[in-house]
Amino acid sequence: MDPVEVAAVPDAGPGPAWQSKCPWGAPNTAAMSCSLADVMSEQLAKELQLEEENAAFPEVADVAEGPFITGENTDTSSDLMLAQMLQMEFDREYDAQLRREEKKINGDSKVSISFENYRKVHPYDSDSSEDEVDWQDTRHDPYRADKPTTTPRKGFIGKGKDITTKHDEVVCGRKNTARMENFAPEFQVGDGIGMDLKLSNQVFNALKQHAYSEERRSARLHEKKEHSTAEKAVDPKTRLLLYKMVNGGMLETITGCISTGKESVVFHAYGGRSTAEDKVMPAECAIKVFKTTLNEFKNRDKYIKDDYRFKDRFSKLNPRKIIRMWAEKEMHNLTRMQNAGIPCPQVVILKKHILVMSFIGQDQVPAPKLKDVTLSSEDMKKAYYQILHMMQQLYKECNLVHADLSEYNMLWHDGKVWLIDVSQSVEPTHPHGLEFLFRDCKNVSQFFQKAGVAETLNERELFNAVSGLQITADNEVDFQAEIEALEKMNEDHVQNHGKKLSMFSSDGDPPIYDE
Ligand code: ADP
Ligand code: MN
Repeated sequence: MDPVEVAAVPDAGPGPAWQSKCPWGAPNTAAMSCSLADVMSEQLAKELQLEEENAAFPEVADVAEGPFITGENTDTSSDLMLAQMLQMEFDREYDAQLRREEKKINGDSKVSISFENYRKVHPYDSDSSEDEVDWQDTRHDPYRADKPTTTPRKGFIGKGKDITTKHDEVVCGRKNTARMENFAPEFQVGDGIGMDLKLSNQVFNALKQHAYSEERRSARLHEKKEHSTAEKAVDPKTRLLLYKMVNGGMLETITGCISTGKESVVFHAYGGRSTAEDKVMPAECAIKVFKTTLNEFKNRDKYIKDDYRFKDRFSKLNPRKIIRMWAEKEMHNLTRMQNAGIPCPQVVILKKHILVMSFIGQDQVPAPKLKDVTLSSEDMKKAYYQILHMMQQLYKECNLVHADLSEYNMLWHDGKVWLIDVSQSVEPTHPHGLEFLFRDCKNVSQFFQKAGVAETLNERELFNAVSGLQITADNEVDFQAEIEALEKMNEDHVQNHGKKLSMFSSDGDPPIYDE
């Protein structure tokens, strides 16, 4: 029997008429007419119960606070996700059992048999049906079914009072299944006990949260509660991807949201086990989730559309892939910077529109942005020279212009400046590359002038120092005009000769997507 079908399909099994209606679709009107006091006391009772249960499962409570399985804003579309989570968990356990049996049968025998073919591989895991062929899929996939996570050899997970032994897993699993019975009656849980389904704490908790949030949904319908943008940005698909990262052991826990921007949401996570032998997970990670709502990206078209590295691909792509390309771009740009020795986050993994990188900061506290930090005049001067050097390295060694450089995208950590947010960075020969560089220079010069660094070059001097060009105009309008003339000359050259002038590109790296 397929446990997921039983557990997650709302209409499973016969029941009274009210039960056969979709409980998530039809809000319970009776609850809405409740008095405030009733709602409050009911809520209090629920909260107390939740608290009690959380105390019984301290380890899970932490996980449940993660952004992707927080019940608060779960909508009905996450049923699928829950079903998939449940299925994944089931498959993992099934495969582990299979492996144990395989080992038992084979023993020390020289001839061994394999149960490989009986492993659970589910359509979701090979998302080939989707329109997505990203570079990552062609490489080692840490989520493949043949590399399931098992209880570590030491036989327990966690430390201190959060310790969970192998033995507990089974007992808790059964207990969890039994506890599902306590969910609200309209939350169909299926006959988990009958088939001895062992729910792990994580899955149980996700389901529990979901059940409670469904229950409260009707009461919330008319509440003008401010929904967190973070939650909205993390759609069920993203949550599933994040869940896979945790479930696969790559991440230990996702602790919370660091930043919610127009185009991305950034989470903090503790690193788990390494994804491959040669890769060590950073102790703390930042997860940048590029928003999959397209509107935000419209005004960024010009960065990527004209970037010849992506040009050919751009026209053929659907919007979802374009968003993934932002993540991909950030990854490639960060890698170039890393190679040049510029302080920046280290790329860990790219999964579709989710980029995992090392965390700049400590103990969940992100390093402050340069705009927020108070530096001694000595440190400020040091920061300025460091940035000047980094801009030159970026241009000459990485063949990149940051294109959104300002005190908002520079972090102060470990006594130096770290560059972040490079998804929009372009090569200098981008049709607007020099304009972007000039804008970066203006931001940097203005910031350090205001900060009182006497040595600060003005934006035109800085531009020349970074690019190595010698534009002589002594006012902004003329300077800008010369920049645009240069860009145009280069574009014309591309039109006529099919290639760029090397005039302001470095003689360094070959571009990644050069045709
Ligand atoms: P956005 O496009 O939303 O500006 P950013 O890459 O600038 O995206 O990230 C937003 C914020 O998240 C940053 O200002 C910074 O505070 C935090 N952040 C991003 N990446 C990291 C990281 N690797 N380590 C620590 N904090 C980070
Ligand atoms: Mn930013």
